[in-house]
Amino acid sequence: MDTARSISVLESLVGFDTTSRNSNLALIGWVEAYLDRLGVAHARVPDETGTKANLIATIGNADVPGYILSGHTDVVPVDGQNWSSDPFRLAQRDGRLYGRGATDMKGFVACCLAAVPDMLARKLKQPIHLAFSYDEEVGCIGVRGIIDRLRDWPVKPVACFVGEPTCMQVVIGHKAKRSVQATVRGRTCHSSLAPLGVNAVEFAARVIDAVEFAARVIVKVRDIAERLVREGPRDPLYDVPHSTGHTGLVHGGSALNIVPDLCTFEYEFRTIAADDPDALAREVESYARDVLEPQMKAVAPEAGITLRDRSSFPGLDTAPSSDIVGLSRAFAGRNDLAKVAFGTEAGGYAADGIASVVVGPGSIDQAHKADEFIAVSELEKCGVFIDRLIDHCSS
Ligand SMILES: [Zn+2]
Repeated sequence: MDTARSISVLESLVGFDTTSRNSNLALIGWVEAYLDRLGVAHARVPDETGTKANLIATIGNADVPGYILSGHTDVVPVDGQNWSSDPFRLAQRDGRLYGRGATDMKGFVACCLAAVPDMLARKLKQPIHLAFSYDEEVGCIGVRGIIDRLRDWPVKPVACFVGEPTCMQVVIGHKAKRSVQATVRGRTCHSSLAPLGVNAVEFAARVIDAVEFAARVIVKVRDIAERLVREGPRDPLYDVPHSTGHTGLVHGGSALNIVPDLCTFEYEFRTIAADDPDALAREVESYARDVLEPQMKAVAPEAGITLRDRSSFPGLDTAPSSDIVGLSRAFAGRNDLAKVAFGTEAGGYAADGIASVVVGPGSIDQAHKADEFIAVSELEKCGVFIDRLIDHCSS
Protein backbone atom coordinates (compact mmCIF):
# COMPACT_ATOMS: atom_id res chain seq x y z
CA MET A 1 0.00 0.00 0.00
CA ASP A 2 1.20 3.42 -0.94
CA THR A 3 0.53 5.63 2.11
CA ALA A 4 1.49 8.78 0.20
CA ARG A 5 -1.32 7.97 -2.23
CA SER A 6 -3.76 7.48 0.69
CA ILE A 7 -2.79 10.89 2.06
CA SER A 8 -3.17 12.51 -1.34
CA VAL A 9 -6.65 10.99 -1.82
CA LEU A 10 -7.58 12.00 1.75
CA GLU A 11 -6.54 15.56 0.98
CA SER A 12 -8.98 15.63 -1.92
CA LEU A 13 -11.82 14.02 0.07
CA VAL A 14 -11.46 16.37 3.05
CA GLY A 15 -11.64 19.32 0.62
CA PHE A 16 -15.32 18.58 -0.04
CA ASP A 17 -17.62 19.93 2.67
CA THR A 18 -19.85 16.87 2.88
CA THR A 19 -21.54 17.84 6.14
CA SER A 20 -24.67 15.68 6.13
CA ARG A 21 -26.98 18.67 5.44
CA ASN A 22 -25.07 19.33 2.16
CA SER A 23 -25.00 17.45 -1.13
CA ASN A 24 -22.18 14.90 -1.41
CA LEU A 25 -22.32 14.79 -5.21
CA ALA A 26 -19.12 16.78 -5.76
CA LEU A 27 -17.19 14.21 -3.75
CA ILE A 28 -18.96 11.32 -5.50
CA GLY A 29 -18.09 12.90 -8.87
CA TRP A 30 -14.44 13.13 -7.81
CA VAL A 31 -14.40 9.44 -6.83
CA GLU A 32 -16.08 8.50 -10.13
CA ALA A 33 -13.43 10.39 -12.10
CA TYR A 34 -10.70 8.68 -10.06
CA LEU A 35 -12.20 5.24 -10.78
CA ASP A 36 -12.71 6.16 -14.46
CA ARG A 37 -9.00 6.90 -14.80
CA LEU A 38 -8.32 3.38 -13.49
CA GLY A 39 -10.97 1.81 -15.72
CA VAL A 40 -13.17 0.67 -12.81
CA ALA A 41 -16.94 0.61 -13.42
CA HIS A 42 -19.15 2.19 -10.76
CA ALA A 43 -22.82 2.79 -10.02
CA ARG A 44 -24.57 5.62 -8.22
CA VAL A 45 -27.50 4.91 -5.91
CA PRO A 46 -29.15 8.34 -5.57
CA ASP A 47 -31.47 9.49 -2.80
CA GLU A 48 -34.99 10.56 -3.73
CA THR A 49 -34.09 14.26 -3.94
CA GLY A 50 -31.22 13.62 -6.37
CA THR A 51 -28.88 15.78 -4.26
CA LYS A 52 -27.02 12.90 -2.61
CA ALA A 53 -25.82 9.52 -3.73
CA ASN A 54 -24.13 6.32 -2.64
CA LEU A 55 -21.47 4.85 -4.87
CA ILE A 56 -20.77 1.16 -5.48
CA ALA A 57 -17.81 -0.18 -7.45
CA THR A 58 -16.48 -3.69 -7.97
CA ILE A 59 -12.89 -4.65 -8.65
CA GLY A 60 -12.50 -8.24 -9.84
CA ASN A 61 -14.85 -10.94 -11.01
CA ALA A 62 -18.38 -10.17 -9.80
CA ASP A 63 -19.55 -13.74 -10.56
CA VAL A 64 -17.83 -14.93 -7.38
CA PRO A 65 -18.75 -13.90 -3.82
CA GLY A 66 -16.46 -11.12 -2.61
CA TYR A 67 -15.83 -8.67 0.18
CA ILE A 68 -17.30 -5.22 0.75
CA LEU A 69 -15.25 -2.30 2.03
CA SER A 70 -17.87 0.10 3.37
CA GLY A 71 -17.52 3.73 4.35
CA HIS A 72 -19.64 6.86 4.62
CA THR A 73 -18.84 10.09 2.78
CA ASP A 74 -20.70 12.51 5.04
CA VAL A 75 -19.26 14.27 8.08
CA VAL A 76 -20.68 16.04 11.14
CA PRO A 77 -20.88 19.86 11.23
CA VAL A 78 -18.00 22.08 12.37
CA ASP A 79 -20.49 24.73 13.60
CA GLY A 80 -19.39 26.33 16.84
CA GLN A 81 -16.13 24.38 16.96
CA ASN A 82 -12.82 26.11 17.42
CA TRP A 83 -10.43 24.68 14.81
CA SER A 84 -6.71 25.55 14.65
CA SER A 85 -6.81 25.35 10.87
CA ASP A 86 -9.39 25.19 8.06
CA PRO A 87 -11.35 21.96 8.74
CA PHE A 88 -11.84 21.40 5.01
CA ARG A 89 -8.16 21.61 4.16
CA LEU A 90 -6.02 18.66 5.23
CA ALA A 91 -3.17 19.87 7.43
CA GLN A 92 -0.22 17.67 8.40
CA ARG A 93 1.44 18.31 11.76
CA ASP A 94 3.60 15.93 13.82
CA GLY A 95 2.61 12.74 12.03
CA ARG A 96 -1.07 13.63 12.18
CA LEU A 97 -3.47 14.67 9.46
CA TYR A 98 -6.04 17.22 10.59
CA GLY A 99 -9.37 17.82 8.89
CA ARG A 100 -13.09 17.21 9.28
CA GLY A 101 -13.68 13.54 8.50
CA ALA A 102 -9.99 12.61 8.70
CA THR A 103 -10.77 9.82 11.16
CA ASP A 104 -14.57 9.55 10.70
CA MET A 105 -14.18 8.27 8.10
CA LYS A 106 -12.60 9.69 5.00
CA GLY A 107 -9.26 8.22 6.11
CA PHE A 108 -10.63 4.72 5.53
CA VAL A 109 -12.30 5.70 2.25
CA ALA A 110 -8.97 7.17 1.10
CA CYS A 111 -7.12 3.93 1.95
CA CYS A 112 -9.69 1.91 -0.03
CA LEU A 113 -9.36 4.17 -3.08
CA ALA A 114 -5.57 4.29 -2.84
CA ALA A 115 -5.52 0.48 -2.91
CA VAL A 116 -7.51 0.20 -6.17
CA PRO A 117 -4.40 0.19 -8.44
CA ASP A 118 -2.98 -2.69 -6.32
CA MET A 119 -6.30 -4.54 -6.51
CA LEU A 120 -6.26 -4.17 -10.31
CA ALA A 121 -2.64 -5.30 -10.59
CA ARG A 122 -3.30 -8.48 -8.61
CA LYS A 123 -6.05 -9.99 -10.81
CA LEU A 124 -8.40 -10.77 -7.91
CA LYS A 125 -10.04 -14.21 -7.93
CA GLN A 126 -12.61 -12.94 -5.42
CA PRO A 127 -13.89 -9.41 -5.99
CA ILE A 128 -13.58 -6.46 -3.65
CA HIS A 129 -16.58 -4.11 -3.62
CA LEU A 130 -16.37 -0.48 -2.56
CA ALA A 131 -19.58 0.87 -1.01
CA PHE A 132 -19.59 4.56 -0.07
CA SER A 133 -22.73 6.02 1.46
CA TYR A 134 -24.32 9.39 2.30
CA ASP A 135 -26.20 10.39 5.48
CA GLU A 136 -24.59 7.93 7.87
CA GLU A 137 -24.14 10.59 10.53
CA VAL A 138 -27.86 11.36 10.60
CA GLY A 139 -29.03 7.81 11.25
CA CYS A 140 -27.39 5.32 8.83
CA ILE A 141 -29.87 6.35 6.12
CA GLY A 142 -27.91 6.20 2.86
CA VAL A 143 -26.63 2.67 3.32
CA ARG A 144 -30.18 1.35 3.11
CA GLY A 145 -30.09 2.11 -0.63
CA ILE A 146 -26.86 0.13 -0.97
CA ILE A 147 -28.31 -2.83 0.92
CA ASP A 148 -31.45 -2.72 -1.27
CA ARG A 149 -29.24 -2.76 -4.35
CA LEU A 150 -27.22 -5.73 -3.03
CA ARG A 151 -30.43 -7.75 -2.73
CA ASP A 152 -30.68 -7.72 -6.53
CA TRP A 153 -27.17 -9.05 -7.01
CA PRO A 154 -27.21 -12.66 -8.29
CA VAL A 155 -24.05 -13.40 -6.27
CA LYS A 156 -24.12 -12.23 -2.65
CA PRO A 157 -20.98 -10.85 -1.00
CA VAL A 158 -19.31 -13.09 1.59
CA ALA A 159 -18.75 -10.37 4.13
CA CYS A 160 -18.41 -6.67 4.81
CA PHE A 161 -15.75 -4.59 6.55
CA VAL A 162 -17.08 -1.26 7.82
CA GLY A 163 -14.11 1.06 8.30
CA GLU A 164 -15.31 3.25 11.17
CA PRO A 165 -12.41 4.30 13.39
CA THR A 166 -11.42 1.47 15.75
CA CYS A 167 -7.62 1.89 15.61
CA MET A 168 -7.79 -1.28 13.46
CA GLN A 169 -9.17 -3.33 16.33
CA VAL A 170 -11.76 -5.85 15.18
CA VAL A 171 -15.18 -4.85 16.49
CA ILE A 172 -17.84 -7.55 16.42
CA GLY A 173 -20.72 -5.76 18.08
CA HIS A 174 -22.53 -2.53 18.64
CA LYS A 175 -25.88 -1.76 20.19
CA ALA A 176 -29.12 -1.32 18.30
CA LYS A 177 -30.92 2.02 18.62
CA ARG A 178 -34.58 2.89 18.52
CA SER A 179 -35.66 6.47 19.11
CA VAL A 180 -39.14 7.94 19.27
CA GLN A 181 -40.59 11.44 19.10
CA ALA A 182 -43.68 11.83 21.26
CA THR A 183 -46.31 14.55 21.04
CA VAL A 184 -48.81 15.01 23.83
CA ARG A 185 -51.90 17.10 23.14
CA GLY A 186 -54.18 18.42 25.89
CA ARG A 187 -56.69 21.23 26.24
CA THR A 188 -55.53 24.67 27.13
CA CYS A 189 -56.99 27.19 29.59
CA HIS A 190 -55.78 29.81 32.02
CA SER A 191 -53.80 28.19 34.80
CA SER A 192 -56.20 29.54 37.41
CA LEU A 193 -58.82 27.24 35.83
CA ALA A 194 -56.39 24.33 35.59
CA PRO A 195 -58.75 21.61 36.83
CA LEU A 196 -60.84 22.15 33.64
CA GLY A 197 -57.98 21.41 31.25
CA VAL A 198 -56.10 18.21 30.62
CA ASN A 199 -52.71 19.70 31.26
CA ALA A 200 -50.49 18.21 28.59
CA VAL A 201 -47.45 18.90 30.63
CA GLU A 202 -48.95 18.94 34.12
CA PHE A 203 -50.76 15.59 34.07
CA ALA A 204 -47.44 13.90 34.56
CA ALA A 205 -44.53 15.32 36.50
CA ARG A 206 -44.56 14.54 40.17
CA VAL A 207 -41.84 17.09 40.69
CA ILE A 208 -42.94 20.12 38.68
CA ASP A 209 -46.69 20.14 38.48
CA ALA A 210 -46.68 22.08 35.20
CA VAL A 211 -45.14 19.12 33.39
CA GLU A 212 -47.22 16.22 34.48
CA PHE A 213 -48.56 14.24 31.64
CA ALA A 214 -45.60 13.96 29.30
CA ALA A 215 -43.49 13.30 32.35
CA ARG A 216 -45.49 10.18 33.11
CA VAL A 217 -44.32 8.75 29.81
CA ILE A 218 -40.82 9.98 30.58
CA VAL A 219 -40.95 8.30 33.97
CA LYS A 220 -42.04 5.10 32.22
CA VAL A 221 -38.96 5.29 30.00
CA ARG A 222 -36.85 5.86 33.09
CA ASP A 223 -38.45 2.92 34.93
CA ILE A 224 -37.59 0.64 32.03
CA ALA A 225 -34.04 2.02 31.92
CA GLU A 226 -33.64 1.37 35.65
CA ARG A 227 -34.95 -2.16 35.23
CA LEU A 228 -32.36 -2.73 32.47
CA VAL A 229 -29.61 -1.52 34.81
CA ARG A 230 -30.91 -3.59 37.73
CA GLU A 231 -31.77 -6.90 36.14
CA GLY A 232 -31.29 -6.68 32.36
CA PRO A 233 -29.01 -9.07 30.46
CA ARG A 234 -25.31 -8.27 30.39
CA ASP A 235 -22.65 -8.30 27.65
CA PRO A 236 -19.25 -7.69 29.27
CA LEU A 237 -17.60 -6.67 25.97
CA TYR A 238 -19.43 -3.32 26.21
CA ASP A 239 -18.23 -0.51 28.48
CA VAL A 240 -21.86 -0.07 29.49
CA PRO A 241 -22.66 -3.79 29.59
CA HIS A 242 -26.48 -3.51 29.51
CA SER A 243 -29.16 -1.88 27.38
CA THR A 244 -30.01 1.73 28.16
CA GLY A 245 -32.99 4.08 27.86
CA HIS A 246 -33.06 7.85 28.05
CA THR A 247 -35.19 10.92 27.31
CA GLY A 248 -33.47 13.86 25.65
CA LEU A 249 -35.31 16.89 24.29
CA VAL A 250 -38.48 18.12 26.01
CA HIS A 251 -40.51 21.09 24.81
CA GLY A 252 -43.72 22.21 26.43
CA GLY A 253 -45.66 25.20 27.59
CA SER A 254 -45.42 28.90 26.79
CA ALA A 255 -46.13 30.70 30.06
CA LEU A 256 -46.74 29.76 33.67
CA ASN A 257 -50.30 31.07 33.66
CA ILE A 258 -51.37 28.99 30.65
CA VAL A 259 -52.07 25.29 30.92
CA PRO A 260 -49.95 23.92 28.11
CA ASP A 261 -51.84 22.04 25.41
CA LEU A 262 -48.74 20.69 23.69
CA CYS A 263 -45.64 18.91 24.85
CA THR A 264 -43.12 17.11 22.67
CA PHE A 265 -40.19 15.01 23.77
CA GLU A 266 -37.84 12.39 22.42
CA TYR A 267 -36.57 9.19 23.96
CA GLU A 268 -34.42 6.30 22.88
CA PHE A 269 -33.35 2.79 23.74
CA ARG A 270 -29.93 1.38 22.92
CA THR A 271 -29.88 -2.35 23.29
CA ILE A 272 -27.43 -5.22 23.46
CA ALA A 273 -28.26 -8.28 21.35
CA ALA A 274 -30.16 -9.97 24.21
CA ASP A 275 -32.76 -7.18 24.32
CA ASP A 276 -35.25 -6.18 21.65
CA PRO A 277 -35.45 -2.39 21.14
CA ASP A 278 -38.86 -2.73 19.49
CA ALA A 279 -40.27 -4.59 22.50
CA LEU A 280 -39.03 -1.83 24.83
CA ALA A 281 -40.56 0.84 22.58
CA ARG A 282 -43.83 -1.12 22.53
CA GLU A 283 -43.85 -1.24 26.32
CA VAL A 284 -43.81 2.56 26.45
CA GLU A 285 -46.36 2.81 23.68
CA SER A 286 -48.88 0.49 25.32
CA TYR A 287 -48.58 2.41 28.59
CA ALA A 288 -49.26 5.68 26.74
CA ARG A 289 -51.98 4.15 24.59
CA ASP A 290 -53.80 1.90 27.07
CA VAL A 291 -53.29 3.62 30.41
CA LEU A 292 -52.73 7.34 29.89
CA GLU A 293 -54.65 8.19 26.73
CA PRO A 294 -58.05 6.93 27.95
CA GLN A 295 -57.71 9.12 31.06
CA MET A 296 -57.01 12.14 28.86
CA LYS A 297 -59.75 11.50 26.34
CA ALA A 298 -62.30 11.06 29.11
CA VAL A 299 -61.80 14.77 29.87
CA ALA A 300 -60.98 16.14 26.39
CA PRO A 301 -61.65 14.01 23.30
CA GLU A 302 -59.09 15.97 21.25
CA ALA A 303 -56.36 15.11 23.75
CA GLY A 304 -53.98 12.26 23.06
CA ILE A 305 -50.49 11.04 22.40
CA THR A 306 -48.75 10.56 19.07
CA LEU A 307 -45.58 8.49 18.86
CA ARG A 308 -43.44 8.71 15.75
CA ASP A 309 -40.26 6.76 14.97
CA ARG A 310 -37.41 9.20 14.89
CA SER A 311 -34.50 7.00 13.92
CA SER A 312 -33.30 3.50 14.44
CA PHE A 313 -30.57 1.16 13.36
CA PRO A 314 -30.03 -2.54 13.91
CA GLY A 315 -27.36 -3.78 16.28
CA LEU A 316 -24.32 -5.82 15.33
CA ASP A 317 -23.48 -9.11 17.02
CA THR A 318 -21.08 -11.18 14.92
CA ALA A 319 -19.95 -14.50 16.39
CA PRO A 320 -16.27 -14.50 17.45
CA SER A 321 -15.95 -17.94 15.83
CA SER A 322 -17.18 -16.78 12.41
CA ASP A 323 -14.94 -16.85 9.32
CA ILE A 324 -15.08 -13.07 8.90
CA VAL A 325 -13.77 -12.54 12.43
CA GLY A 326 -10.94 -15.03 11.87
CA LEU A 327 -9.96 -13.29 8.63
CA SER A 328 -10.20 -9.84 10.19
CA ARG A 329 -7.93 -10.86 13.08
CA ALA A 330 -5.37 -12.20 10.61
CA PHE A 331 -5.57 -9.07 8.39
CA ALA A 332 -5.37 -6.72 11.39
CA GLY A 333 -2.57 -8.73 13.00
CA ARG A 334 -4.24 -8.67 16.40
CA ASN A 335 -6.50 -11.07 18.24
CA ASP A 336 -8.41 -8.88 20.68
CA LEU A 337 -12.07 -8.23 19.92
CA ALA A 338 -14.30 -5.42 21.09
CA LYS A 339 -17.83 -4.10 21.03
CA VAL A 340 -18.42 -0.38 20.74
CA ALA A 341 -20.92 2.16 22.01
CA PHE A 342 -21.53 3.90 18.68
CA GLY A 343 -23.79 2.59 15.92
CA THR A 344 -22.51 1.83 12.43
CA GLU A 345 -23.69 0.65 9.05
CA ALA A 346 -22.43 -2.86 9.91
CA GLY A 347 -25.68 -3.61 11.76
CA GLY A 348 -27.64 -2.96 8.55
CA TYR A 349 -25.46 -5.26 6.45
CA ALA A 350 -25.60 -7.96 9.13
CA ALA A 351 -29.40 -7.68 9.40
CA ASP A 352 -29.50 -8.44 5.69
CA GLY A 353 -27.44 -11.59 6.09
CA ILE A 354 -23.99 -10.24 5.21
CA ALA A 355 -21.47 -11.14 7.93
CA SER A 356 -19.90 -7.88 9.08
CA VAL A 357 -17.28 -6.42 11.35
CA VAL A 358 -16.18 -2.87 12.07
CA VAL A 359 -12.47 -2.28 11.62
CA GLY A 360 -10.90 0.96 10.49
CA PRO A 361 -8.05 3.40 11.03
CA GLY A 362 -8.00 6.21 13.53
CA SER A 363 -9.70 6.67 16.87
CA ILE A 364 -13.34 7.48 17.58
CA ASP A 365 -11.99 9.73 20.36
CA GLN A 366 -11.05 12.28 17.69
CA ALA A 367 -14.30 11.97 15.76
CA HIS A 368 -16.84 14.83 15.71
CA LYS A 369 -14.47 17.19 17.55
CA ALA A 370 -12.54 20.33 16.67
CA ASP A 371 -9.09 19.49 15.29
CA GLU A 372 -10.22 16.00 14.28
CA PHE A 373 -7.16 14.10 13.08
CA ILE A 374 -5.89 10.72 11.99
CA ALA A 375 -2.32 9.56 12.61
CA VAL A 376 -0.36 8.69 9.47
CA SER A 377 0.57 5.43 11.25
CA GLU A 378 -3.14 4.51 11.30
CA LEU A 379 -3.37 4.88 7.53
CA GLU A 380 -0.30 2.63 7.28
CA LYS A 381 -1.94 -0.04 9.46
CA CYS A 382 -5.10 0.16 7.38
CA GLY A 383 -2.96 -0.22 4.26
CA VAL A 384 -1.50 -3.46 5.64
CA PHE A 385 -5.01 -4.74 6.38
CA ILE A 386 -6.18 -4.04 2.83
CA ASP A 387 -2.96 -5.54 1.38
CA ARG A 388 -3.70 -8.77 3.25
CA LEU A 389 -7.29 -8.71 2.01
CA ILE A 390 -5.97 -8.32 -1.55
CA ASP A 391 -3.58 -11.26 -0.95
CA HIS A 392 -6.49 -13.32 0.33
CA CYS A 393 -8.68 -12.43 -2.67
CA SER A 394 -5.97 -13.21 -5.20
CA SER A 395 -4.83 -16.56 -3.78
ZN1 LIG B 1 -18.50 7.44 11.07
